[in-house]
Amino acid sequence: MSEINRVWRLRQRPVGDIDDQVLSFEQEAIPVPQDGQFLFRMNYLSLDPTNRIWMSDMDQYMPPVELGAPMRGIVCGTVVESRHKRYKVGDRVSGLGVWADYQIGPAGPVGLLPDVPGLGMDVAFGTLIGVGPTAYFGLLDLGQPQPGETVVVSAAAGAVGSIVGQIAKIKGCRAVGIAGSAEKCRWLTEELGFDAAIDYKHEDVAAALARTCPQGIDVYFDNVGGAVLDACLKHMNLGGRIPTCGLISSYNAQGPVPGPFNYSMILMQRLRVQGFIVTDFAPRFGEAIAALAQWLASGEVKVRMDIHEGLENALATLKTLYTGGNTGKLLLRVAAP
Ligand code: NDP
Repeated sequence: MSEINRVWRLRQRPVGDIDDQVLSFEQEAIPVPQDGQFLFRMNYLSLDPTNRIWMSDMDQYMPPVELGAPMRGIVCGTVVESRHKRYKVGDRVSGLGVWADYQIGPAGPVGLLPDVPGLGMDVAFGTLIGVGPTAYFGLLDLGQPQPGETVVVSAAAGAVGSIVGQIAKIKGCRAVGIAGSAEKCRWLTEELGFDAAIDYKHEDVAAALARTCPQGIDVYFDNVGGAVLDACLKHMNLGGRIPTCGLISSYNAQGPVPGPFNYSMILMQRLRVQGFIVTDFAPRFGEAIAALAQWLASGEVKVRMDIHEGLENALATLKTLYTGGNTGKLLLRVAAP
């Protein structure tokens, strides 16, 4: 084991886009586990849009990272020393940890990484922890898609969105994805089985929705908010559902963000708009993990891991999320499993 622990710490709250000054990369002593704890070495760090939220002190769903504290992250790793009776050296763990080579567990709230035969650590972590359950519960519990209905999802070539569209297909729906390049749109329709895809950076989204959703939209799974939400609102059917999963178009905004111009559609079409955080469904994670593992095994759900290397590149890699640099789940390999 190397003697040094590399740790990213929050130094400034970001204003607008994340810059290089918000975090510092420090070298520190490796922490020592006490009774009831274990030490694990990180293998993969999940880079998530919500990292920007945790850096800021905006109103949010959990306390922001404190200035000076290690940056919070969704992590997975391998136990290297244990003083906890349920964890032994070699166990694979995942949960809410910090951006550091070595850290103390249990990393809550997840614990042991699900061990699914045939799935590598990267796919198990990048699909079954966080993003897969987000897609599963957001679409099925909040969206309640019925066979024959039209489901539209934004950030569709990203981690959550790519799974949402494929679950919609499994449930017998028409799936339409909105993504930021022709290449991403091709991946959605040619490899993942979406019925249509809209390149929102190069097409008139309203016109493209009218073309690709001739029966209107029954479920709009919102990952982005902003102008794309507005365009979708205009096409919603009576009794439509909008699971509000994320608002990435405004995470880097400075100052107030304008509300949707088509807000009146919520009234006129009796829409149900509901926000959620995946941890609301924590008691049912096992259900989502079992379903996703089965769909991965059958090939009904395909995933892509977009893997970058090296803890030192964490901040630079995180920034790419906000410009659409990733396709599928963005991960950082910190140490080979
Ligand atoms: P993604 O893998 O989808 O990556 C983010 C994507 O967002 C980028 O690839 C980019 O794709 C798109 N994007 C970036 N900036 C903008 C913008 N200004 N307007 C429109 N699209 C943009 O990330 P995740 O799948 O992890 O997350 C997707 C959403 O779900 C996020 O909003 C996230 O916060 C939310 N989320 C919510 C959870 C919950 O519990 N509620 C849990 C997990 C995620 P493109 O090239 O298409 O622009």
